[in-house]
Amino acid sequence: MQHFNTIIGNNIQVAQTILESGEVIGIPTETVYGLAGNALNEDVALKIFSVKNRPHFDPLIVHTHSVSEIEKYVTEIPDKARLLMRSFMPGALTLLLKKKSLIPDIITSGLDTVAIRVPAHPLTLKLLKELPFPLAAPSANPFGYISPTTAAHVYNQLQGKIPYILDGGATTVGVESTIVGFEGDDIIVYRLGGLALEEIERVTGKIKVNINTASNPKTPGMLKSHYAPSVPLLFDDPELLGLAKTENKTIGTICFNTLVTGLNYSTQILLSPAGDLNEAAKNLFAAMRKLDTSGLDIIYAVKFPDEGLGKAINDRLKRASAK
Ligand code: AMP
Ligand code: MG
Repeated sequence: MQHFNTIIGNNIQVAQTILESGEVIGIPTETVYGLAGNALNEDVALKIFSVKNRPHFDPLIVHTHSVSEIEKYVTEIPDKARLLMRSFMPGALTLLLKKKSLIPDIITSGLDTVAIRVPAHPLTLKLLKELPFPLAAPSANPFGYISPTTAAHVYNQLQGKIPYILDGGATTVGVESTIVGFEGDDIIVYRLGGLALEEIERVTGKIKVNINTASNPKTPGMLKSHYAPSVPLLFDDPELLGLAKTENKTIGTICFNTLVTGLNYSTQILLSPAGDLNEAAKNLFAAMRKLDTSGLDIIYAVKFPDEGLGKAINDRLKRASAK
């Protein structure tokens, strides 16, 4: 693979020039940082997969700057999709829609639907408006590891593999987008994410949830083990936590708004002292990274309230703990 002298900057023109030359770069979004390239070019898509070390059965999300742009890449938009677009785009919502043939099959892993969204990040929206193509962008981390929420996270992991990282500050949502598809008259959620189910249901009424937890995903990408730190992570398992304590393991914790009793305070992270699940989601991945590089034996994560973005947080922690 080509070696680059990776630069972090906030120059949209530089980003545009590099993307137009067929290279891939790091970009900010409101959810997590993306590893972006021309979504209409098969060779560029292959580069994304190879930089990430991502298996080809795991499709990429396409990013555009507006709903009218989406029309160019899909054959039909169900009424309910339009309703969601009006309510939540730009935002942390990805829609699965029937693709036109100008979206290469490699982008969708051979599926006839394309995952597409409009990211709510001013810098990236500006960049998308300048570009003559949409951007395919999975999270900018090596496959299976924790998603990046700052430009520095991207640099730490992909340094040398990409020429440029567009720095748009720390992400404001902090977990990946919610992915929604349409079947007949139904709206189906395939990935819990940065847009809470309750928010969607307020607009659409009751929706279905079909979250895959298999290690051999039928809905690609929803792998059982994902978002994982290198240090073993225990999720919501007081018994194993007790065992680790008796074995004198050094333990770090990911907590909501209260510490776990009986453990060293210095290696415990409160994701939101104020008890705000949005704030907790925003801080989740950075906390996982911090603990992963603190020389611990074990990371212990508590279960978050099963509502709002707490659902996405629990989903990520569960996958991070899976072997
Ligand atoms: P990421 O880009 O890493 O945030 O994740 C992309 C994820 O979107 C994949 O892992 C899939 O779970 C999902 N996805 C992308 N395209 C499709 C598609 N056409 N059908 C179903 N799921 C998709
Ligand atoms: Mg990812």
